[in-house]
Amino acid sequence: MKANHIYDYVERLGELLRVDSRQAGTKHGLQPVQIEVLHYLAICNRYSDTPMAVTEYLGLTKGTVSQTLKVLEKKELLTKQLDDTDKRISHIKLSTKGKNLLNKVVPTTMFVTACEVLSDEKQSDIASSLKQLLTTLLHANDLKTFGVCSSCRYNSETEGGGYFCKLVEQPLSVDDVQLICREHESKV
Ligand code: SF4
Repeated sequence: MKANHIYDYVERLGELLRVDSRQAGTKHGLQPVQIEVLHYLAICNRYSDTPMAVTEYLGLTKGTVSQTLKVLEKKELLTKQLDDTDKRISHIKLSTKGKNLLNKVVPTTMFVTACEVLSDEKQSDIASSLKQLLTTLLHANDLKTFGVCSSCRYNSETEGGGYFCKLVEQPLSVDDVQLICREHESKV
């Protein structure tokens, strides 16, 4: 299949999901960019929950991210905490209210309905192909991977069955290794 055919499918999917997401967000008083920020914060780890990482991941300007975070904080959907060692850095966490609201809009009803028609095997096949496309696109264009921690070359298993990050030299929990990270580097 030619590259432009793949592009057409991905673009159409993106358009449909954007429209559905916008409609779902409107019902709950959320703009598309606010949903994107909440979704990122729900899947990133503690090394990636900063305004700078949000900016990098979503490809937005610092001003847009700053403004969006202020609105979400005012709506009590997230909280800010200063870093323990560097007070210039703030970490942003979803509040319980933020998590509950996000669960109502992501994934959207249209997407869930489509997945219910597909078998588990077919869903796994599609996920695998999309992951391959995403990984290839990131590597081919020398972009930050923001991958899942368990697939990072700095992630090592400890003797006790836990995990350890060799980059920041800190232990990682089972939950930590399921999250995405701005420092992620793929295993070769
Ligand atoms: S192992 Fe990699 S992905 Fe995980 S926290 Fe460390 S740098 Fe990030």
